[in-house]
Amino acid sequence: MAKIDGDTRVTGIIGKSLSHSLSPFLHNNVYKKLEKPYIYVPFPVEGAENLKDVLKGLMNAGALGFNVTVPYKEDVVKIIDRLSEDAQIIGAVNVIHFKNGAIKGYNTDGAGFILNLKNDLKFELKDKNILILGAGGSARAVIYSLAKENASGLTIANRTISKAEDISRKFSPFFKKTNFLISGLNFPKLNLKEYDLIINCTSSSLNNYNLNFPFHLLKKKTIVSDLIYPLKKSPFLIEAKKKGHRVVDGLLMLAYQAALSFEIWFDTAPPFDLYKKYALKSKKCQ
Ligand code: NAP
Repeated sequence: MAKIDGDTRVTGIIGKSLSHSLSPFLHNNVYKKLEKPYIYVPFPVEGAENLKDVLKGLMNAGALGFNVTVPYKEDVVKIIDRLSEDAQIIGAVNVIHFKNGAIKGYNTDGAGFILNLKNDLKFELKDKNILILGAGGSARAVIYSLAKENASGLTIANRTISKAEDISRKFSPFFKKTNFLISGLNFPKLNLKEYDLIINCTSSSLNNYNLNFPFHLLKKKTIVSDLIYPLKKSPFLIEAKKKGHRVVDGLLMLAYQAALSFEIWFDTAPPFDLYKKYALKSKKCQ
């Protein structure tokens, strides 16, 4: 824990159920290491109707900024004074910065996922076909960032097909190089051998429901990802690993999006290595 005195300022996270969040561990360790006079505190908020009062109160009390997590990433958009271009198109915010009396909103989830793909998996997006399961807040951020990187084929498979259609309709005009396809969760209808990467952006691992994904229909070298962390919390990844696939959980995505939050709050280069170091350290403790 960073030293707390009269000059300490507050950052933190707003969500509903925060007891399992790794973000306080990551940010507080980085602040301590870099001798920043800041702390990072979880603020559980009960009900979207309270978000405005909570945020205004925190801003007036001199806080610097916050992360936003499930289920409020979309709700906070309505309260923000200025949205970054990414957050505006995605329609969800995971970083808030209080600056000059205004509430500014950003989205670093998708960029965090791409950094993990590029830096750690050395996954090149050119000419790749990717299947995304889910069409919620995190799926929208990931799909937006993949399209921004010129991914050639993105199939969005979601229980509620209209939500996948909304994403495709909204993003297609911005990303002419990407071919968007829409599907329900009837996976055998898709030609699964065509996909190089499968990304589970549903809440299946968080909320314990089974997507009944037919891993046996994939080619062996397909990489399988789930945004949840750690790996052992994902029956989806455990099954994929058993079938011989390379798997990736959401731990380093979390580390990268956290470092990008740091960049926004402190207007300085994101200390990626430090955030990754503490994320990997947390894995050893689990
Ligand atoms: P969300 O907005 O609530 O979206 C949930 C998605 O799951 C929707 O597509 C929803 O489909 C689907 N779903 C819910 N119940 C289902 C069911 N019974 N059967 C089939 N599909 C179902 O959640 P989110 O914010 O995108 O988060 C999703 C996951 O990503 C969570 O596990 C979260 O922890 C993780 N995440 C990780 C990071 C990281 O940094 N590692 C960052 C963000 C999120 P419908 O549209 O049909 O309801």
